[in-house]
Amino acid sequence: MSCVFCGGAPVTKEHVFPQWLNDYLPPGRQQTEQARYGEGAYDKTRQSVGLDFTVKKVCAPCNNGWMSQMEVASKDVLAPLITRQNLDFITLRQQRQIALWATKTAMMADQVQHKPLLPPQQLRRMHTHQAIPGGTRVWIGACPQREPLVTSHTVRVHLTGVSAPGNPQKVGFYCPMKIGHLCIYVYFPAADVVIQHAREFHLSVARIWPRRSSDLPFPPPVQPRNGEAFEHFADALQQSLYLYTPEEAAEHGLQES
Ligand SMILES: [Zn+2]
Repeated sequence: MSCVFCGGAPVTKEHVFPQWLNDYLPPGRQQTEQARYGEGAYDKTRQSVGLDFTVKKVCAPCNNGWMSQMEVASKDVLAPLITRQNLDFITLRQQRQIALWATKTAMMADQVQHKPLLPPQQLRRMHTHQAIPGGTRVWIGACPQREPLVTSHTVRVHLTGVSAPGNPQKVGFYCPMKIGHLCIYVYFPAADVVIQHAREFHLSVARIWPRRSSDLPFPPPVQPRNGEAFEHFADALQQSLYLYTPEEAAEHGLQES
């Protein structure tokens, strides 16, 4: 097994959700949940102290090097969004940092699966260029309930009715995660498409990647009530997405939402 980011060996255990998040957990045992689809599928809930969700697919130089630096650079941006609801604006620089961190974390969550969905070259470019793969969408929102601190799942997306020349399997990947009050939705369509979501989501999620042109007022006015509502909300958002080819979008004058 070689490192999914740089090809190096040996690999060590890396936490899917970084250990600094434990600072925001109440003391004692937490309920954590892991799920895997496809071959060897499981969905289990268990008790643990702190966030101990790991995968053994990353080498120590990546783990202790660029990935650790990314956590340090992201923590100050993420912590206020995780712990508070009285925010004002998220700057463009902060939006980019959140999108980068969310993409890296979604990549780690994908590695928990038997057959990860994201192409290996996208992980290599995250390592070499800290690049968010082309086509990645990241939306954010908020939830009034802080606990459970981390809720996430991964979804295999079947792209139907869209032409995807570079992606004959037509499989995309979606990873919604709630980290404290902050809700993040990472979507990899793996095809060149213009995406719109249903009108009902316009007041509850805001796109931060691809880049917006302005600071973002936050939190949005409409929010899922709690962790369970977040899971339903995240699935409903994905099901509401309309994917158009660039030609269709141009023909109908459609803008990305
Ligand atoms: Zn590595």
